[in-house]
Amino acid sequence: MSSTALIDSHCHLVLLQERGLLQRALEGAQAAGVEAIISVGVNLEDSDRNREIAEQHSAVYFTVGWDPQQPRSPGAAELNALAELLRHPRAVAVGEVGLDLFFRPGYHETPVEVQRESFRLMLELARDQGKPVVVHDRDAHAEVLGSIAAVPGSRGVMHCFTGDAEHARRSVQAGFPVSFAGIVTFKNAETIRDAARAAGAGDYLVETDAPFLAPAPHRGTVNLPERVAVTAAAVAALRGEDDDAVRAATAATARAVFGIGGDAGGGV
Ligand SMILES: [Zn+2]
Repeated sequence: MSSTALIDSHCHLVLLQERGLLQRALEGAQAAGVEAIISVGVNLEDSDRNREIAEQHSAVYFTVGWDPQQPRSPGAAELNALAELLRHPRAVAVGEVGLDLFFRPGYHETPVEVQRESFRLMLELARDQGKPVVVHDRDAHAEVLGSIAAVPGSRGVMHCFTGDAEHARRSVQAGFPVSFAGIVTFKNAETIRDAARAAGAGDYLVETDAPFLAPAPHRGTVNLPERVAVTAAAVAALRGEDDDAVRAATAATARAVFGIGGDAGGGV
């Protein structure tokens, strides 16, 4: 197994904590060489719970988000609270935020106008505090790029990238390197694999989105941050590169995007 450290650029430790798996997740990540975990918030309360975890574990950083599934946009008091939380020294980004046009009863049914308003407010919050943005884009590639372009100076990462190589190029051009999740190992994901082959060395990251999207051969199980190593290895194989090269490149990109140090020591 590779000894080069890597970073899980997107996971939900609060959801693992709710399943009684936080300690297991952190220990497994450390054993797998994961030097940092970005734990992502989906609303104000969830972001604050991620803050608590980040305060207790030196390898964990958190983000402050209002995701597109929230049924309404943040009000003034909530925006103030989100802004305050973002000033925390371990808060590294706004996210996840974005657009989700995959409407299904039981998944979410938030009207697109509400999503657009939430996304705009959060892009402006990130711009005002000079933070990167973790973007959630489901079935909304063109609309997401349009929203980003409407708030000049936006930068960040396209989380759980599901576009093609051309969309990846456009995203990178817009200041958003793309992050590959376990989906890249799924059978029907040839378009995403093409994007992983074509991406420039500094233009992509890897993530788990744990507890969701476990990569093959773990598909269907509760995902864990340690499995970012599986996705990194899959991307390395696609690119014909060493695991170590992909681990190092993606960790460097994650450090650059989120402004986190390379040798803070510690481990998870
Ligand atoms: Zn997520």
